[in-house]
Amino acid sequence: MKRLLLIGGGHAHVEVLRRFALRPEPDVAITLISPHRQTPYSGMLPGLVAGHYRFDEAHIDLALLAQWAGAVLLPTCVERLDAAGRIAQCADGSKHAFDVCGIDIGSTPRMDAPGAREYTIGVKPIERFLTRWAQELDRARQGAHQDIAVVGGGAGGLELLLAMQHAARGAVAEPAHGPRFQLLTDTPTILASHAPVVRRSFERVLAAREVAVHPGARVIEVDPGQLRCADGSLIHADLIVWATTASAAPWIRESELAVDANGFMLIDRHLESTSHRRIFGSGDIAALQSARLPKSGVFAVRQGPVLAHNLRCALRDLPLRPFITKPGALALISTGDRCAVMAWGRCGLAGKWVWRWKDFIDRRFMAKYKRPL
Ligand SMILES: Cc1cc2nc3c(=O)[nH]c(=O)nc-3n(C[C@H](O)[C@H](O)[C@H](O)COP(=O)(O)OP(=O)(O)OC[C@H]3O[C@@H](n4cnc5c(N)ncnc54)[C@H](O)[C@@H]3O)c2cc1C
Repeated sequence: MKRLLLIGGGHAHVEVLRRFALRPEPDVAITLISPHRQTPYSGMLPGLVAGHYRFDEAHIDLALLAQWAGAVLLPTCVERLDAAGRIAQCADGSKHAFDVCGIDIGSTPRMDAPGAREYTIGVKPIERFLTRWAQELDRARQGAHQDIAVVGGGAGGLELLLAMQHAARGAVAEPAHGPRFQLLTDTPTILASHAPVVRRSFERVLAAREVAVHPGARVIEVDPGQLRCADGSLIHADLIVWATTASAAPWIRESELAVDANGFMLIDRHLESTSHRRIFGSGDIAALQSARLPKSGVFAVRQGPVLAHNLRCALRDLPLRPFITKPGALALISTGDRCAVMAWGRCGLAGKWVWRWKDFIDRRFMAKYKRPL
């Protein structure tokens, strides 16, 4: 038997499992290591936070998918990897030797400002965020939160803020007396990497929803209930959510896998580690050597089919297939209230129909993992 080890139930690995369920490999023992039985689908996260989706609608059941694929699901997480010896070590003390391995563990926001880890809620790991947000929403219902701040002015931070505001307004008796929201970004504008038309669309939404935006605000320190910015300003908030640039799990660098300047696993065009053969990377945790891709679920999804093919070939010592993609992608960014903005290159369109379109795409995607056979 050959041993295939899948570390993390991210967007690419769910497709690998689905494809192995559709076409099983008789002589391969598959193990999936994931701390959670349910893995969230990023496209539906803001809708889940806003209250438009139930938990099960926005999550893929990894245990079921693993069962269909004939894989063993181990509910723990990898803490160390001996890349040369091909052994993964887990938080529960178990060790797992492999012949071929895939790593799809996502990323977490970079929380390097002193106090950020102690006094803010990171948007990832998402499971922890969702648990905390449910508690904080209860507190908001009781009037405990007057000011909520989100740090991070990218699409993820914006979508999350608008979704949280929608949920908080729905939770209180008088929405006008609900918590006030603030958005901080260290860039000169929100959505710095998007087209001006998309940015203006969101600026209008934020103004209409009375969100205070602090552009050029680089947070250098966090104290309980207070953010200190590089320009000396202090911003008060009862609850602070951290949704900044992605960072990599430290054990990737410690494993001696080749990494880029930010500690993300370097992969070649076959999605294989540039330093260690038979170890593959995908999604946020991986950095293609040949192209800089945004840290977005779309690319993890696109990598899934090629990854599944290459894992099969690696198990049989067959030639691998290259992953070819365009760096751009259609983005459908929701505004919390069952509306969304479409961003495509320099174009942007907004409306309820964009949300319905996004909802259709997301539900169709999820349907594949509810019943892969
Ligand atoms: C609010 C928000 C909204 C977003 N909306 C979108 C969107 O609409 N479209 C889009 O394309 N992107 C979106 N993104 C970005 C998207 O979430 C990520 O790019 C995407 O989830 C990355 O997918 P992945 O496969 O790399 O990993 P993930 O989907 O993050 O999955 C990684 C999995 O690995 C597990 N794991 C972590 N560490 C370990 C370990 N050590 N051992 C074992 N398992 C481990 C985790 O529990 C998790 O289940 C959004 C992000 C945020 C924060």
